[in-house]
Amino acid sequence: MATTEHSYFLHELELRREHLLSASRANVADASLNNLLASVDAALSRLKSGTFGLCETCHNSIEAGRLLCDPLLRFCLDHLSDDEQRALERDLTLAARMQRALLPPPDWSVAGWQARYHYQPAGLVSGDYCDLIESDGAFLFLLGDVVGKGVAASMLMSHLHATFRSLAGQQLPLQRLVELANRLFCDSTTAGQYATLVVGRAWPDGRAEYVSAGHLPLLHVSSAGVSARQATGLPLGMFCGTTFPVCELTLAPNDTLFLYTDGLTEIFNPAGDEYGMRRVESLAKRHAASRPEELLAACLAEVNSFSGGVKQKDDLTLLALCRVN
Ligand SMILES: [Zn+2]
Repeated sequence: MATTEHSYFLHELELRREHLLSASRANVADASLNNLLASVDAALSRLKSGTFGLCETCHNSIEAGRLLCDPLLRFCLDHLSDDEQRALERDLTLAARMQRALLPPPDWSVAGWQARYHYQPAGLVSGDYCDLIESDGAFLFLLGDVVGKGVAASMLMSHLHATFRSLAGQQLPLQRLVELANRLFCDSTTAGQYATLVVGRAWPDGRAEYVSAGHLPLLHVSSAGVSARQATGLPLGMFCGTTFPVCELTLAPNDTLFLYTDGLTEIFNPAGDEYGMRRVESLAKRHAASRPEELLAACLAEVNSFSGGVKQKDDLTLLALCRVN
């Protein structure tokens, strides 16, 4: 274990030990406090002997994200007791329900615009982020992908959701909004935790502006064809002081903005080929006249047939925003 990690866990465990001892002195001691104290002492001795963070069954490392949340863990996810396994499943089911509740309504629309999305976690919870927020006669559209997947990524996703929800009401210019969110994200995450995302704002007359923080191309789909808009900046949370240039575009009635995560481009078929950007663009072009729900349905049908039953490992999110009359 690296020295920094070692001192981090030593500090965390000693802190817990002090709290437990003072709780005992305050006469609130019961059997559970004594059991916890014994667990903390055992963790401290594992830290001393160099076995801290290793699963007692398979001797592999316990998942880092779980250990950070609970330094008393002794088993990896594969080797939990039946009771622990059931408790984890209950927690995950609840987390999945809470995450679903963060999504916008499925039939979202505002003056001049209609949106449809598809949100499909690879496991119970997702590291993908999708939101639509009305603000001051316009609305914000957000779609992103937090690095990694599973519980740790889903926690960062909820964090992003809360950050943008709280900044959305502040009437900030888009660039300032994303720069502030980046700073807040940087301050509250550890190195290596970042997110790629598109943050845009659109008005009822079809004007739109967006920032793409290291995300896959945003597609502007119109009767004239498909225009792929590349990323304008670095992923969110990677550098505290980076800037996020804003790009503008105007959508004519029936034009669509199509956003997606790499759970779409990185779908594999049985031969090991990746679905890729070229297929996404070609699909968007063929469905340029479709309603958002038709575009999403066509996309899902196509990738289902492309993947030929190969189980996909990544979270998948699609968002289609259509300018309506
Ligand atoms: Zn194990």
